[in-house]
Amino acid sequence: MNFEPGSDIRSVDSDGTSVKSDLRMDTSGKPSTAQIVVLATSSALTALFYSIYRSRATTVARLKEAKKVSIDQDLKTLLSETPGRCVPYAVIEGVVRSVKETLGSQFVENCRGVIERLTLKEEKMVWNRTTHLWNNTEKIIHQRTNTVPFALGSHDDDITTTIRVIRPLDAAELDLETTYENFHPTVQSLSNVIGHFISGERPKGIHETEEMLRLGDSITGVGELVLDNNLIKLQPPKQGFQYFLTRLDYDSLLRKQGNSVRLWRILTVLFGVAACSTLIYILWRRYSHRRQNKKERSMMEEFKERQKKRMRELNIEENNVSPTSCTVCLSREKSCVFLECGHVCACAQCYDALPEPKKCPICRAAIDRVVPLYNS
Ligand SMILES: [Zn+2]
Ligand SMILES: [Zn+2]
Repeated sequence: MNFEPGSDIRSVDSDGTSVKSDLRMDTSGKPSTAQIVVLATSSALTALFYSIYRSRATTVARLKEAKKVSIDQDLKTLLSETPGRCVPYAVIEGVVRSVKETLGSQFVENCRGVIERLTLKEEKMVWNRTTHLWNNTEKIIHQRTNTVPFALGSHDDDITTTIRVIRPLDAAELDLETTYENFHPTVQSLSNVIGHFISGERPKGIHETEEMLRLGDSITGVGELVLDNNLIKLQPPKQGFQYFLTRLDYDSLLRKQGNSVRLWRILTVLFGVAACSTLIYILWRRYSHRRQNKKERSMMEEFKERQKKRMRELNIEENNVSPTSCTVCLSREKSCVFLECGHVCACAQCYDALPEPKKCPICRAAIDRVVPLYNS
């Protein structure tokens, strides 16, 4: 008989017939913690990305429906005839004009504008303990934005109509032009360098930038247009509509917003597919586990039927048979484990007597290996 050395199977379950649970990695069919984490994370991200996608798509749809208004002499008349003297969502392309005073650049001569933003950013290298690399990080340490009232005028100098821009800093897409940029590196002494290696932070320097919205810049404004006491105003629109002030033209703005919608849609689909496949995998595992269980139960019943028949043939009382005795000869002790099925049901002699190709008497699976059972 070909017992395989090295295997050490000592536990037998309650009915003394199987050690399967010890041999198979996972037969519970229940989803593992990792699978639940993957399912929960991917579902949550899908929902998050979908809501961002929805809001971006709404923004683009509203941007497309916004009324294009051109700055000309009749604009005031047109607005005074509109109900409420207001266009709720209008697109205006115009040139930045000053109202009274202007702001001068602190670094560039003869550069005048209406919005000026100064930013100081600290650049640092931080040691990442996981990847063992120095990573660049940036932190804004100071930012100041100055504004003066300004208006949008026509590209045509003969047209005197202007539109006053209200609360420009509320705009979602306020891209300013960089007028000045400088980097002040940190002076490093030897003792500093050693200190940085110990602390895991190495300052690189300070990045200083000045950005401006300059006089004469062409910009596109999207917002609520109202006629208020002879003054035409462009102001933040009602809730749910986005306020835009951008140096892009209307078509480029639309294209840029459309690209972002596409990106969020792709992310939603990717994570949605991941969530669905995880769910399907978990359900499939449960289903196949149940089917397997059912198959095993029916095989066990069939086996017990056969055993009862054999007991009748041999004229043995059921109560006289010990639960640990071989299911084939019903007299000797069970002494081997059949693999891969894992059934413990026969003695070594009955195993040897099994006809070739040898099959497990309980489940009829082919027997690849036999391992001796050590009863402790
Ligand atoms: Zn036997
Ligand atoms: Zn078996």
